[in-house]
Amino acid sequence: MSDYTQMWSSLGLDLKAHDALLSVLGGAYTDIFLSQKNRPEGMKYFDFVMSEVHGLRIKELMDAKAQGRKVIGSYCVFVPEELILAVDGVSVGLCAGAEFNFEGAETVLPRNTCALIKSAFGFKLGRVCPYLEASDVVVGENTCDGKKKSYEILGKLVNDLYVMDLPQMKSETGRALLKEEYRKFIKKLEDVSGKKVTTESLQKGIDIVNAKRNAMKRLAEIRSADPAPISGLDALLVNQVYFYDDPVRFTESVNKLCDELEERVKKGIGVYPNGAPRVIVSGCPMAVPNWKLPMVIESSNAVIVGEESCVGERGARWLTEAKGGTVDSLLDQITDRYFQVECAIFTPNPSRVDYVKQMAKKLGAKGIIHYSLQFCQPYIVESGIAEKELEGAGIPTLRLETDYSQEDAGQLKTRVEAFIERINKK
Ligand code: SF4
Ligand code: SF4
Repeated sequence: MSDYTQMWSSLGLDLKAHDALLSVLGGAYTDIFLSQKNRPEGMKYFDFVMSEVHGLRIKELMDAKAQGRKVIGSYCVFVPEELILAVDGVSVGLCAGAEFNFEGAETVLPRNTCALIKSAFGFKLGRVCPYLEASDVVVGENTCDGKKKSYEILGKLVNDLYVMDLPQMKSETGRALLKEEYRKFIKKLEDVSGKKVTTESLQKGIDIVNAKRNAMKRLAEIRSADPAPISGLDALLVNQVYFYDDPVRFTESVNKLCDELEERVKKGIGVYPNGAPRVIVSGCPMAVPNWKLPMVIESSNAVIVGEESCVGERGARWLTEAKGGTVDSLLDQITDRYFQVECAIFTPNPSRVDYVKQMAKKLGAKGIIHYSLQFCQPYIVESGIAEKELEGAGIPTLRLETDYSQEDAGQLKTRVEAFIERINKK
């Protein structure tokens, strides 16, 4: 990696802490990803992106800013990238997947806050996230109570925090609220960027994001093959890179990977033996570098064939119908698309479990591992409902609650291995 010290300094990063973080990340990446056998060649692109995650990509963001483009950081898949692209902005996901500076986070947040929120605060207070520091606007959203209330504190720590209200019920009033919030968000983006959203610019944004999501759908479908042509870890990595890479380049790279995977399927080449136990992971999003549970599962000789998660199918599976001659009619299509997202903050939220069942069928999964972050009420409460329904439908389900620490890795492995034994006997 080139020397980016000057750039990191200019962003106000704590260089010592940042070096320590990169060194831990680099070591974990080598151990978890590069040690896998028979990886597709197409994963080299994603390895490169990861090796430059705080380097070249940040330089690209800084170059974009120098050209007058705005960087918009966000924490939730309800923030439409289409709208950001329509003002020629750059959308970046603010990852929050590492246990970093939780002591700092706990000075402003209760200890019993989920690891995702604590991570976001740990990164901000510790000054180690160049994406967050490069963002001209940080977008928050009223989803769970933890996030909603913590934005009141984050607002004092970042320059421009914009909080979007979100519905909690899939009703007509809920949809109207979402559309109105998106309309207000357009106004905010126009004010910040000095550019107007037009039918053409919005249509272009929709086309770029649809192409990206189509590539992810293609990848998701290929994973129905047995033997699995790609590991769950690698597929998760692609889903994670989705949030901060250049969207056009990312789409090309995913499609190239899919070309290779389709060839593998034709030739019967897999990363695990034919008939290896297949599972789906469902639940809270796994942001970079949250790889603990997938590593535990795949080192227990099972293969993850799908993620029902916002970093996975829940985040990417719907497309926006790119039809309509006005900004308003396109906004209707965008609202309809996002209103389908089955986040557990909605009540009730039955279509999420229905979709897990569909995924199990189409991907040939033998069991579901439901993953909740500790203290995440929406997903923990829903995990009980999901388990009952899935088990009732004959789909073995394991409910796990964990955090970002490595302390429970051994315990998780014991439970995962017992579950795999159960589904193997079935
Ligand atoms: S789980 Fe809900 S709150 Fe979290 S990213 Fe997904 S939609 Fe947003
Ligand atoms: S993991 Fe759960 S508690 Fe944490 S931010 Fe997401 S929805 Fe909220």
